[in-house]
Amino acid sequence: MTFDISKLTIVEARRALDAKEYSAVELAQAHLDTIQKQNSELNAYLEVYDDVIAQAETADAVIASGQQQALTGIPIAVKDNILIRGKRVSSASKILEGYVASYDATVIERLKKQNTVFIGRTNMDEFAMGSSTEHSAFGRVKNPIDPARVPGGSSGGSAAAVAGGIAVAALGSDTGGSVRQPAAFCGVVGLKPTYGAVSRFGLMAMASSLDQVSPFARTVKDARLLFDAIRGRDANDSTSLPDEFFATKKKQPKTIGVPRAFLTEGMDADVLARFEETLEKLRGEGYTVVDIELPHAPYALSVYYIIMPAEASTNLARYDGIRYGLSVEGADSLDIYRKTRGQGFGPEVRRRILIGTFVLSSGYADAYYRKAIVVRDLIRKDFEKAFTQVDVIATPTVPTPAFRAGEKEDPIAMYAADIFTIPVNLAGVPGISVPMGTVVRDGNNLPLGMQFIAPHGGEDALFTMSEAIERMALQ
Ligand code: GLN
Repeated sequence: MTFDISKLTIVEARRALDAKEYSAVELAQAHLDTIQKQNSELNAYLEVYDDVIAQAETADAVIASGQQQALTGIPIAVKDNILIRGKRVSSASKILEGYVASYDATVIERLKKQNTVFIGRTNMDEFAMGSSTEHSAFGRVKNPIDPARVPGGSSGGSAAAVAGGIAVAALGSDTGGSVRQPAAFCGVVGLKPTYGAVSRFGLMAMASSLDQVSPFARTVKDARLLFDAIRGRDANDSTSLPDEFFATKKKQPKTIGVPRAFLTEGMDADVLARFEETLEKLRGEGYTVVDIELPHAPYALSVYYIIMPAEASTNLARYDGIRYGLSVEGADSLDIYRKTRGQGFGPEVRRRILIGTFVLSSGYADAYYRKAIVVRDLIRKDFEKAFTQVDVIATPTVPTPAFRAGEKEDPIAMYAADIFTIPVNLAGVPGISVPMGTVVRDGNNLPLGMQFIAPHGGEDALFTMSEAIERMALQ
C-alpha cells in the first residue's frame, strides 16, 4: 500500500493504527522505502536498523491485543549519541566507529515499554559540538528545504529526518540549542526540557550540567506526547527531578516578556519583523507583551564556551583507545592514548578539549572557569527575576534563517548562532522552538522559529504558548 507519510503526526498515526487502516509493519515499510530514496541525498541517517520490521511486528501484536500506548508502532529516529543496547552508536565520531552499546539509555527503555519503532541513528555534529551538522565525521546533512543550506546542529540529522518526511518524530540532545536551533532551521517543533526533567542515563555526556535529551516533532501535541513518554525521575541519574515537581507548576500563561536589548545581537531584520508580527498576533489573542531585561544574557556565549569545553574535556577523557571503539597501536599506553585521540577526534572536538583543559588548568581556573560559574549564576538570577514579572519569555530561536553550508568557517561566527538558546541551558529552564512563518532566501521559503522560555518545570506553559502560535498557521 502507498500512503503519504511526509506530514504524518503521531496523533494521526495512532488513530490510523488503532483503526487498523494500516499496520505498524506497513507504516515502517513506508518509511524504509522513502529513506531508501531520500537518505543518500539528505544524509540524515547514519544507519537504518536491520530489525525495523521485526520491531513493527511486535508493535502490531501489542495493538492486536489492545494493550497499545501513545507511541506503540510509531517510527522515530534517534540521535547517534543515545544508547540502544546491541546497536552501534558513534556520536558521529571516528573514535567510536564500530562501538556497540551495552545497555539502553533510560529514554530508550521507556520508549521500548511502549513498543515505539526505532528506525535508525541520525547524523550529528561530532560529540554534539556544532550548530550546522557540518562537523560530523560522516559528511554533512542537507536541509530538506534548501539542500545548499545546513539543517542546523548538532542534532541536524534528527531535525532533517522529521522535516524531510523520513521519521514521524525524533530524539535529539540539547546542550546549548542543539534541538531548538535545528528545529527552527527545518520548520519543526523542538523542546529542550527543564534540566532534570529527562534522564541523561545512556546519553553520551558532552557537558553534564547542560545536556538534556530533547524531542523533535511535527506538532506541539506530538512533542508533548514524546516528552511525556521519556520524562520522569530515574534512579540512574541523580540530577533527574521527582515527578511531583512538575505537578505544582501548571499555570495558564498570560504575560509574555521580551528581552528587547538582548535581541539586537546579530539579528536579521526580516527575522525581527516576523517576530514582531507574531507578538502582535499574540496581543490580539489577549496576551500581554512587556519588555524585560536579561542584563547578563549577552555574556552567555562567553560563559558557555568556558563551562561547556571544561565539562566536555573531562567527559571525553574516557575515550582512551582502550575502553571504547577505535584503538591505534602504539609503543605504550600513553602512545596509544595520544595516537587514538589525535586520529579519532575531529578538529572541533580537539579545539574544545584544548580550551576545556586550559580553562581548568592550575593558574587559569580562577580566571576563567570559576568566573564563568559566577556569571552563570547571575544569568540564572536574571531569569528568576524576569519570571516574577512574566509567565514566559519570547525570542526568535535563532537570529537568522538557515545559513549556507560552508558559510561559517570561523568558529566564533558559528557559535553566535546559539546566542538566544544558550542562556536557557545555563539557567536550566525549559525552552521550545515552534515554527514562526518563513522568509524568502534564494527563492526558497526558509522556516523560522519562535522560542518560548518558562521557569523550571513550566513545560505546560510552553506547550500552551506554542499551540497558540500553531493555530495562527503562519506562512
Ligand atoms: N551549538 C552548540 C555547541 O556547539 C550547542 C551544542 C548542543 O546543544 N549540543 O556547543
